[in-house]
Amino acid sequence: MTEFWRFARMMLYYRRLLIIAAVGVFIDAICVMGGFGSLTWIITMFFEQGVTIRELVADKLADSRLEQWTGLDLSPLAQWIPAGELAGLAFIMVFILALSLVGSAGRFTHEYCTMTVVMRTVMRVRKRLFNRLVHLPVAVANQDSTASRIARVIRDCQQLTNGFTALVSRAVRGIALGLALLALAFYLDYVLALTFLFIVPPVMIMIRKFGKKVRKASRRALKHYGIMLGAITESLQGLRVVKVHHAEGYERRRFNRINREALTQEMRARVAKAMSAPTVELFALIGVMGVMMIAAWSVYGGGRQASEVVSVLMMLAASAGMFRSVAGLNNHLQEAAAAAQSIDEVLSLPVENTARDEQGQALPAVPRHRRAIVFDDVWYTYPGSESPAVAGVNLTVPAGSICAVVGSNGSGKSTLLGLLPRLYEPTEGRVLIDGVDIADCTLRSLRRQIALVTQETVLFDGTIADNIIYGSRHVSHEQMVAAARQAYADAFIESMPDGYQSNIGERGMRLSGGQRQRLALARAILRDPAILILDEATSQIDADSEARINEALTDFMRSRTTFVIAHRLSTVIHADMIVVMDNATVASIGTHQELLQSSDVYRVLCRTQLQGLPQ
Ligand code: ADP
Ligand code: MG
Repeated sequence: MTEFWRFARMMLYYRRLLIIAAVGVFIDAICVMGGFGSLTWIITMFFEQGVTIRELVADKLADSRLEQWTGLDLSPLAQWIPAGELAGLAFIMVFILALSLVGSAGRFTHEYCTMTVVMRTVMRVRKRLFNRLVHLPVAVANQDSTASRIARVIRDCQQLTNGFTALVSRAVRGIALGLALLALAFYLDYVLALTFLFIVPPVMIMIRKFGKKVRKASRRALKHYGIMLGAITESLQGLRVVKVHHAEGYERRRFNRINREALTQEMRARVAKAMSAPTVELFALIGVMGVMMIAAWSVYGGGRQASEVVSVLMMLAASAGMFRSVAGLNNHLQEAAAAAQSIDEVLSLPVENTARDEQGQALPAVPRHRRAIVFDDVWYTYPGSESPAVAGVNLTVPAGSICAVVGSNGSGKSTLLGLLPRLYEPTEGRVLIDGVDIADCTLRSLRRQIALVTQETVLFDGTIADNIIYGSRHVSHEQMVAAARQAYADAFIESMPDGYQSNIGERGMRLSGGQRQRLALARAILRDPAILILDEATSQIDADSEARINEALTDFMRSRTTFVIAHRLSTVIHADMIVVMDNATVASIGTHQELLQSSDVYRVLCRTQLQGLPQ
């Protein structure tokens, strides 16, 4: 619950609106109180024949208590009320109507303001959540499925909205009106009102008990909802694979299982949720019966006026109704508390340290790379993994050279190069650019000079131009076209109906794999990096185009340091140095000719992995 209150406190940011809302609810409560108070006169008039409203009001206004509280003599006000029975009744009805109109205006103000506050606050929570999520280090982000994160942002925030609304809008109103009516009942007959209060403690205990159950069950249900969303996303994103493998049945069964599990979790909260209202009501009923007994006794044994007792009972019943509706809101609050806990978990995940060290000192920027990149005894083990993915790598790459990294699948090539833009932080050892440890400088200055093109190209729903320009600022159309030409992408782009303004669909679905990779290359070229990392960047481009891209890139690569993980020998042969990775370590380093002589691993790779061996 503490997390919920912490988020709820964020609402205090909108103090002005909250104060206006409080005034609104106050007016509402006063008007309801006035309305019920006036009703007692009508009841009395019905019970006691021959009494007019005017006499009753005059009687009440002459009450010395009233004069003490207000300090005014209000009795002349009764003059304004028509003396006749029916005319008096009509007058008091119009009065009640007017009160309820004013009360409604108050209620509107209250709801309007609180809704504004709730929506704005939840928007701020969502913003914080997303900020946190995009700044998660890759290693942390990998630990949870994307879809369950999406679920958090959407569904948890919805629950939070419900909880906040229940709290500041409905609970506040229910309590204010309940208290107002209770106060009126006390004013009329404190003995009956006190008896009524005896039922409050047991009911409160009940509500707490049920609340705990609901909160726990709700948390589990939320988690399963995340898992379910993950399953749906996976199945639907891989729909083509699912269909080709005839795996619809498998996917259906898998989903059904998860769906049923989510249902079971939701059902658990069902008992607690459904039990709470009836139990509370039962207790309330017992209490009301006690009050009735005392009321009956005071009428028959104590000689009280029946009309007065009826009025008090009516007031107490109305007040109880208000409080009951508040009790029903507890479930919403508990669900929101569960959501708040889960949001809080995300918000307390670590973020990438971007510009400051642990002491809060601003980190220096890495100057643009021009000397050498050094891996100094670098180790990296994935969280939760037993063996290292990179083990004791020592490597020096002079600026301006092309370094090819080869090795069998899973030998640690991608991991090694992922350390350079600090997608992962080395578990041990250092990576130095021009002698500066990259762990000690700003991420921004580091990443600005690196372009990474991977096998899985990441494109966004938008036009081709948007996708090429992504991440670069202030580029002209000509620069963009030039980059596209270097990536050998201009031909296919110009053949599209809208050229550079063509929409490529979600994740670039409307393009072929090779076309997507060319766009990704163009994007990297446009960024003008000092360090270019190509991780099987051309794996889906045909050999002919790849040769042309390589040709076009030769100039581009001359002035920068390039790391290339390639699967074609034609690319590897031209590299200044070839790093052979084997089982997370560097097996050997050299040129193509040297390695053919010295490295068994390389010879095997040449035979089995690298395509296009020149004869
Ligand atoms: P390569 O690019 O050479 O094919 P990777 O660097 O991708 O190999 O992977 C090296 C090793 O690290 C593999 O054994 C792989 O199973 C493991 N690995 C890769 N990514 C992760 C991850 N996110 N979590 C845990 N282990 C991983
Ligand atoms: Mg790889």
